[in-house]
Amino acid sequence: HLSFYHLIILFMTTCPFLSYIRLHLGSTGTMFPGNIRFLLGFSFHLSIFLRFVFLSSKDDTAHYCIFYTHIYYIVSIHISDAKISLFYGIVYLWRIKQYIITKMATITLSAEKDPMGAAISDYFNHHRADRLRVFSSQFEEDEIPVKELFRSIQSMPVLERTALQMATGRILDVGAGSGCHTLALQEMGKEVCAIDISPLSNEVMKQRGVKDSRLINLFDETFTETFDTVLMLMNGSGIIGTLNNMPAFFQQMKRILRPGGCILMDSSDLRYLFEEEDGSMLIDLAGDYYGEVDFQMQYKDVKGDTFDWLYIDFQTLSLYASECGFKAKLIKEGKHYDYLAKLSLA
Ligand code: SAH
Repeated sequence: HLSFYHLIILFMTTCPFLSYIRLHLGSTGTMFPGNIRFLLGFSFHLSIFLRFVFLSSKDDTAHYCIFYTHIYYIVSIHISDAKISLFYGIVYLWRIKQYIITKMATITLSAEKDPMGAAISDYFNHHRADRLRVFSSQFEEDEIPVKELFRSIQSMPVLERTALQMATGRILDVGAGSGCHTLALQEMGKEVCAIDISPLSNEVMKQRGVKDSRLINLFDETFTETFDTVLMLMNGSGIIGTLNNMPAFFQQMKRILRPGGCILMDSSDLRYLFEEEDGSMLIDLAGDYYGEVDFQMQYKDVKGDTFDWLYIDFQTLSLYASECGFKAKLIKEGKHYDYLAKLSLA
């Protein structure tokens, strides 16, 4: 899925290495034949030119790249020790990677890449929907019954109903979808704000009578409002994406939660997928955590990007929570390795 823009960014991130080669190896004259030296020199100058082009852009990724490229050049030109400047080059790449990761985490979807939103919108407007298909590199193709995204409080699983009962004060419904939980809470007379990265779902929520719905990513650092209860339902841990994101997630929760507040989250332990009949497990302990999965959805011809989704067992959740200053409490277990947890500041 590389766009032209990504290629430019990629080029920007590799130019320190090109200049490294040019400055420390190529310029000695004997290391490379003339045409290679010419190429290195050419890309060096092209990268300087591109930085000027980017300077006129308003995008902060570009500015970030330029900033670090400049630092890199200054360091590599003034410190003639090749190893030190190579070290700075690596630090620079790492910074760019971190930046791109956090940048990715704060985006919302575009309507062209919002299959679940398209399904929700279709079902709301026409009372029926096509198949919402789910692909994964780990599982067989599956489907989400769109109707279930519109479930009423009566047809919600008991874990969800419990969470709705427990939610108090000002509530944040994270990844609210069609707004089923938000609407139920509103009916119970509770104050609730719904957030979702799907523009189409947000539209439907407004039309269904959700009083406060926002197109916003949970990880968006500019989102500074505070809440007493953060609700994450329908395998709500999924939005965290990977275990690696746990610290960032809890960090954001510290910002968002009011004193005495809590997160109510449901998840499931995927171990049953790896369990043999005799109860033994077929899990590669050296591999990634078995609950880290990737998904991609499609509705009609609207195909979304692949995204990470985290299923987490209660033990692992508690471990990460306590490392991040939170305590986890098991509220209720469901029928099928699923559970509801309450996380609050320790
Ligand atoms: N809670 C709803 C919908 C669950 S599907 C229900 O129980 O029916 C998960 C929802 O989370 C989707 O609507 C998706 O767009 C949204 N989402 C995914 N990542 C998100 C993020 N980082 N921030 C906010 N919403 C997110």
